[in-house]
Amino acid sequence: MSAPARASSWLVALTVIAGITVLAQSVQQKPLEVGGVKLNASLYNGAAYAPAFEFAGALGLDIQTSDNAVTLIQGGRILQLELAGGAYEAATRYTKALQINGVRGAGLAAGRGNGQLLLPVRTVTEAIGASFSENSGSYIVEPVQAKLLAVKSDKTTRSERLVLEVNRDTGFSSRIERNDLVVYLRYTSGEITDYQVDGQFVKTAAVRPSGNKLEVRVPLSDTSGYNIFALPAESARAGTEAVPARIVIDVGPRFERQPVALEARVITVVLDAGHGGADAGVTAGALKEKDLTLRVARLIGAALQGRVKVAYTRDDDSNPSLAKRLEASLQADVFVSLHASALTGSNAKGVQIYYRSPDAPVSGIYAGGRELLKTASQSDKSLLERFISGSAASQALADVVSARILALSDSEAQVLSHDHALMLSAAPKGALQIDLGWFSNAEDVTRLSDPVALRRLAQALADGLYEYLKPQIQGANR
Ligand SMILES: [Zn+2]
Repeated sequence: MSAPARASSWLVALTVIAGITVLAQSVQQKPLEVGGVKLNASLYNGAAYAPAFEFAGALGLDIQTSDNAVTLIQGGRILQLELAGGAYEAATRYTKALQINGVRGAGLAAGRGNGQLLLPVRTVTEAIGASFSENSGSYIVEPVQAKLLAVKSDKTTRSERLVLEVNRDTGFSSRIERNDLVVYLRYTSGEITDYQVDGQFVKTAAVRPSGNKLEVRVPLSDTSGYNIFALPAESARAGTEAVPARIVIDVGPRFERQPVALEARVITVVLDAGHGGADAGVTAGALKEKDLTLRVARLIGAALQGRVKVAYTRDDDSNPSLAKRLEASLQADVFVSLHASALTGSNAKGVQIYYRSPDAPVSGIYAGGRELLKTASQSDKSLLERFISGSAASQALADVVSARILALSDSEAQVLSHDHALMLSAAPKGALQIDLGWFSNAEDVTRLSDPVALRRLAQALADGLYEYLKPQIQGANR
């Protein structure tokens, strides 16, 4: 290398450093008002970025960060933004950096600028359905206003369930005051109402406005604990009606004051046939994923009959909303979601069993959630744990089930850990997603079209589930 070449490369480096310095100094600022809170937005490549913690707080969102993601929680709606290094990079190199409840969509990444963690204002505003406007050189964001629609109750002999139905996802917090459980719904309005529940464990629920929050006060009987979690709103789709957002509160002696996951007394297997109705899933000729999953769900159910309680998320050609499926998963000792795969040009074949591993490297919302667990209030912990905890139970279940499939002569099975299946992590106990085969593989299509082979597969799956549950069934009957 010659001396002049070295000198010129130094020159280039200096020019680059000077350029960066100029760039850093020239970040344009504009006033940003979020529900009356005044902040400053910085413009990167024309996109407005706001200080993350202040911005999330003003919007009523819980926030957690990890090395590579920022997680924002609005009740049952969980946004995850990838975290780029610098805000300029975030605004220019990322266009699909957003996930809402595990589904990826358009949006800019979060990034750092001026020593702060910054969030893309438009991306977050649109993702939570808030309004964004620009007014004489400043930005105005109006937080989402939600409305409490109803407080419904449901009694069983062991517990009472209150369901706060809200017209859209909204953030909430809860705490115990003396013997009262107090839940605050952020940016939510509602009528002053005293609901008479007249249950064994809950007598009343009082709804009162409290600033821009709505307070729901539930006196607890001395022996009662509670468990609280949120389920996301679902918009109407073909064949299904819209479902409001719900904050679900279970109260009874079986719950602790420091809420823990549901503990079912009757061992229940919930079978979730993927797709349905207008949503056929993948197809291969006359074979449709939605029909296959329902057929196999029924066969597994029949094989388990009389051994455990079996419930289905659907038992016909309907397509239950994600919220309905999630809700069903919460009641399960074992939750199995059935699907099929297809990848044109691939020669992959066989059964694939997905579970959420407790020690798989966590990414995205799970990593964010794990961080949040360290500082979360007791009442938020159960929700978080449900969303983020990998499950040793699920791993054991996957191993038992795959061994049964491998014992069949005509099926291969692969056990894989899955980081992004919301439903798997929402189920409190063992949960699997089983892809029954590949519609892109001719041998698999033949196997999945053959009633005898299907019955064998379903029997193997049922035997695996039962083998796994047997110790629990014996425990429950003791
Ligand atoms: Zn599917």
